Amino acid sequence: MSAFLTDGYGRTIRYLRLSVTDRCDLRCVYCMTDDVVFLPRRELLSFEELDRLSSALIERGVDKIRITGGEPLLRKDILHLFQGLSRHLASGALRELTLTTNGTQLARFARALFAAGVRRINVSLDTLDPARYATITRHGDLATTLDGIDAAQSAGLKIKLNAVAVRGVTEHEIDRLIAFAHGRGMDITLIETMPLGHLDVDRADQYLPLDELRSRIAEHWTLEDIDDRTGGPARYVRVGETGGRIGFITPMSHSFCETCNRIRVSATGRLYTCLGEHGGADLRAALRGSEGDDKLNAAIDHAISRKPKGHDFEIRRHSGPALERPMSVLGG
Ligand code: SAM
Ligand code: SF4
Repeated sequence: MSAFLTDGYGRTIRYLRLSVTDRCDLRCVYCMTDDVVFLPRRELLSFEELDRLSSALIERGVDKIRITGGEPLLRKDILHLFQGLSRHLASGALRELTLTTNGTQLARFARALFAAGVRRINVSLDTLDPARYATITRHGDLATTLDGIDAAQSAGLKIKLNAVAVRGVTEHEIDRLIAFAHGRGMDITLIETMPLGHLDVDRADQYLPLDELRSRIAEHWTLEDIDDRTGGPARYVRVGETGGRIGFITPMSHSFCETCNRIRVSATGRLYTCLGEHGGADLRAALRGSEGDDKLNAAIDHAISRKPKGHDFEIRRHSGPALERPMSVLGG
């Protein structure tokens, strides 16, 4: 076993996205159907298992962990996980502990997250129009999420907004979103919708390529390409009028796999080395099968040695999802 986690293409894994639940209080139209069936709770890794798994990966060089879901802040007693993992921030082994959230629970959790060492978070927000927000999220109240953003900023958390580009919505919203984000000192990242999970609409109708959206943005804003790379898939531009940044994540129209340093673990402990991967490796069995970490490390090494070179998603009319697994299982 080598100390670091390096895959067959020489990419060293530093970044874990850890899903803690598949449950959510919203039902975003590009993410899940209204009648989605969630996993029984007994299937989920316990906090002890989530901590043990994270700690084993930190020992092997992972220095950034993003907690995600479903909606991670809905998992009961979720602060225990943050508080436990914060010891790795204190030791310096972990560079960053962060989360992606829809913001509905932030007013409740922002201060405690900051106290546990979280400094930056991603909040998903696709629109600033209350009616559109209710339509896109099916159950959401925009004011609750905006209160969450206020609370997070007051607590000292730096926020990046994530917006999925949805045809028929984002074109009308984008100028307002940019002005809102940059007016409050937040970057905003735009994401192309990916064909993960079954929907009750044709995803081809939702898909809005970011090349097209960028051209629209450029009609009203001055965009300068900049070299900022966060180690992730986003390509950034700076907006002349605001000084703020817009990130573009284009899993559909451009591949970004060659520099991918991340792995994902589902709430049931399946390790996915690529968003496009089908089955994943069962780390829960390895965790439960022995008290020492040898089996766990062997399962991790085996999976990472097989990390694919990249994914190849396609959205065609009537074609259905590339994978049955919705984004809420792996958390994006
Ligand atoms: N519930 C949290 C949230 O919405 O921020 C965390 C989980 S959510 C699955 C993580 C991110 O994935 C969100 O920014 C969401 O907009 C995005 N997402 C969900 N389904 C997607 C899809 N099919 N394609 C692209 N992004 C998607
Ligand atoms: Fe829930 Fe996030 Fe999926 Fe929306 S994108 S339904 S908030 S998990």
